[in-house]
Amino acid sequence: MAFTLPTLGYEYDALSRSISKDIMQLHHSKHHQAYVDKLNAALDGHDNSADLTDLLGELENLPESIRTTVRNNGGGHYNHSLFWQWMSPSGGGEPTGDLSVALGEKYGDFQSFVDEFSAQAAGLFGSGWVWLQPDLSLIASPNQDNPLMQGLDAPILGLDVWEHAYYLDYKNVRADYIKAWWDVVDWQSVAERYQHASSISA
Ligand code: MN
Repeated sequence: MAFTLPTLGYEYDALSRSISKDIMQLHHSKHHQAYVDKLNAALDGHDNSADLTDLLGELENLPESIRTTVRNNGGGHYNHSLFWQWMSPSGGGEPTGDLSVALGEKYGDFQSFVDEFSAQAAGLFGSGWVWLQPDLSLIASPNQDNPLMQGLDAPILGLDVWEHAYYLDYKNVRADYIKAWWDVVDWQSVAERYQHASSISA
């Protein structure tokens, strides 16, 4: 079955206090669509019955001729599908409940967590992502790589720091994009992923 572009849970202009309609439209309908199309093209003629999560966790099982294409575009599809869900027009603020307590225990307080995550995102050379894992560790990945490709758990939050994610709004100033992004993070979605991951590992 072919992979398809997921529908956003909000309008393209819904996050405009942090990310403009132009970026959201390009990022979703062009960039993400291209990952989907290239992933489908790469898998055409191959067994594509695997779940995307399984596919990315077992890239070594793919024929070498399509492995890099699936890594880049399957990663792109997976990463962006989650990214859209980690943002909301009603996002921002701080998490509550167990996630809030756990972040406090790990980082001292919420702002210290934000500072550390932001520093990793600002410091990542070139294109990539920064992830928050269910154990609340931070991982930086180049390109469209993600923790699944390292045999790790699915992330519970991640930030796209490719220039295509911010250049129209923030030009070369990635730090301003990162700062603004926190205002649209959907902590409810992150907390649900944290709870789900905790319940599996318990
Ligand atoms: Mn992107």
